[in-house]
Amino acid sequence: MGKTTIPVGKNQTIEMEITGLTHEGQGVGRYQGFTLFVPHALPGEKVEVKVVKVKKTYGYGRLMEIKDASPYRAEPPCPIYKKCGGCQLQHINYEEQLRQKEQLVRDNLSRIGGLEHVRIHPTIGMENPWRYRNKAQVPIGEEKGGLIGGFYAAGSHQIIDMEACLIQHEKNDEVVQAVKEIASSLGISAYHEETHQGLIRHVVAKIGFRTGEVMVVLITNGEEIPQKDSLIEGILQKVDGIRSIVQNINTKRTNVIFGEKTKTLWGEEVIYDDIGNIKFAISARSFFQVNPVQTEKLYNKALEYAGLTGKETVIDAYCGIGTISLFLARHAKQVYGVEIVPEAISDAKKNARLNRIENVTFAVGEAEKVIPWWYAQGIKADVMVIDPPRKGCNEELLKTIIDMKPKRVVYVSCNPSTLARDLRILEDGGFKTIEVQPVDMFPHTVHVECVVQIKRAESRMK
Ligand code: SAH
Repeated sequence: MGKTTIPVGKNQTIEMEITGLTHEGQGVGRYQGFTLFVPHALPGEKVEVKVVKVKKTYGYGRLMEIKDASPYRAEPPCPIYKKCGGCQLQHINYEEQLRQKEQLVRDNLSRIGGLEHVRIHPTIGMENPWRYRNKAQVPIGEEKGGLIGGFYAAGSHQIIDMEACLIQHEKNDEVVQAVKEIASSLGISAYHEETHQGLIRHVVAKIGFRTGEVMVVLITNGEEIPQKDSLIEGILQKVDGIRSIVQNINTKRTNVIFGEKTKTLWGEEVIYDDIGNIKFAISARSFFQVNPVQTEKLYNKALEYAGLTGKETVIDAYCGIGTISLFLARHAKQVYGVEIVPEAISDAKKNARLNRIENVTFAVGEAEKVIPWWYAQGIKADVMVIDPPRKGCNEELLKTIIDMKPKRVVYVSCNPSTLARDLRILEDGGFKTIEVQPVDMFPHTVHVECVVQIKRAESRMK
């Protein structure tokens, strides 16, 4: 191996050109052949950079000055954008964000999956890509006797106060502000991580976009809330639309937000929201898609790709609280959903009853074990839906799909690289990737969701 010299040193200021964007949204370029990552810089830009970290084969620079700005650069509307880190793409205009996400999918499919010729549609974006989240989870701290709440400063657990988050529904901001103010005025303490003392750890606010129903969850280090009635009264007076105030008790020294015990302090135990024409009950701890507007577009695409006529047996692997299963059930003969988290399956069953949907069966377990067992019992899917976590599908499950030979597979993915890997395996097993629809579920962040239509490659199998 030849000895390479590194052309930059720490704290050196250099001028360079940015040539690409990483999947984390950082600008990247080469300075005399040496790779430097520069957060907040964009492809095509000439920038002045201060080198802040140098490793053997790459380094990091801090953007000091933009000499030549990209036409796609946007002024981030959020005043705390750089400190917070929750969004990574606010400095890129929205149209370009959507194009970058499409490109990321294309790059992954060809590089990892060897799928150059698959049709990839332009990313489906939002008409108004702000204020889209229906759930806020805010850590609470104390400063000069008052409560603060916001986000952790990068790389630490120091809480920075925040009044508004521009990707959060206004109502959730309002709830968090109200709890901070009222609890402060009543002298209720916030939890301190180091000493394990103090009461309020997190405030979680949820809103049903269609129904307007609001839930407030107070996560506390202990059961007893001093001045509980005044606190509840104060929140109800300050914020309209509240249907549920819930306490969750977490007395552990842990980063995990929720504890085991939940009790309703006021109103209902759940709030409701609709996606399409399906109603969902949302409890303090249950998982629910955080961008309901885009979720509906995503599921409509999944429904279209499933090509249901009412005669099909569908298996929904990784079904969560059964959202996709229920969305498809009215168009299928029978739907089977499987999910590893027991509470999610219990929510899924409740949601089926709530909507009077009877042609769904939910099971708790690992998809890779339950589906082969179903297959052995003679349950065979015409259409298979898979919506795995970021690490992608289990290989055993892919093998089962290849054996079972469903006519169509609909793959919903939140990670283009594991998607590409799994599509390759399905292609090698006799399936063909027909088209890919990226959907922007999380505007201004680097995340990208895809729905993929996959069919049995009939002609090749004959
Ligand atoms: N389809 C659902 C949730 C998808 S998230 C929705 O749209 O809301 C992925 C889900 O897979 C999570 O709920 C997770 O608990 C579940 N999961 C992870 N590993 C699993 C496995 N091996 N078998 C079944 N489910 C699994």
